[in-house]
Amino acid sequence: MNTLEKYREFRKKIPNDILLLAVSKIKSETEITELYQAGQRDFGENYVQELMEKHQHLPKDIHWHFIGHLQSNKVKFLVPFIHLIHSVDSMKILTEINKQSEKINRVTSVLIQVYSGLETSKFGLKPEQACELIKQFSESKLSHVRIEGLMAMGTNTDDEGIVKEEFLRMKELFEKLKMFETPKIQMKYLSMGMSGDYALAINSGSNLIRIGSLIFGERNYQNK
Ligand SMILES: *Cc1c(COP(=O)(O)O)cnc(C)c1O
Repeated sequence: MNTLEKYREFRKKIPNDILLLAVSKIKSETEITELYQAGQRDFGENYVQELMEKHQHLPKDIHWHFIGHLQSNKVKFLVPFIHLIHSVDSMKILTEINKQSEKINRVTSVLIQVYSGLETSKFGLKPEQACELIKQFSESKLSHVRIEGLMAMGTNTDDEGIVKEEFLRMKELFEKLKMFETPKIQMKYLSMGMSGDYALAINSGSNLIRIGSLIFGERNYQNK
């Protein structure tokens, strides 16, 4: 099957109320255009430079999502057009997004990245830290950022039991955080599930899945 056929097949399997994010990192503008013509509007990218180039060349009604690790000095490049930043994990980055957004009179939507596994990880917050950050944000004066939910990254394992347990913990956290809801904090998206575990994620309460290889095929970094 080619990319378009894979996309159509996959689309059929996904309930309509689940947002399907096509993760297009290192994939060509031609491949993205094919999916766009088939009706896909949400695309996810991990690298700021690559995302900016694609945004410049491709249709302006694409909803671009940033899902990679974000450095403060790159924020200013994203805020003019980004639809949703999934990878926010500190007050520092929230403050910078707020500052750059305020300059151009825009409100930027973000998700808080949570590490759902039990071991520690370099990126993403523990559930308690995510609660703390959201509380701190709610008490802050930042008014040009809106938190719209959580992005979860879990343990990389084939053990479905572990993955399921982590997803359910994230769903629980997501529900719990609804008590902090204000106009600038809305628990709208629970971004979890990738090619290997999207079904489990949907069954555990995800409403935004991030799919790369299942649609575009394996990523071959040499042939970029
Ligand atoms: C690359 C990536 C994905 C997509 O992964 P696949 O396994 O190819 O579906 C999803 N989320 C994040 C954060 C990624 O970096």
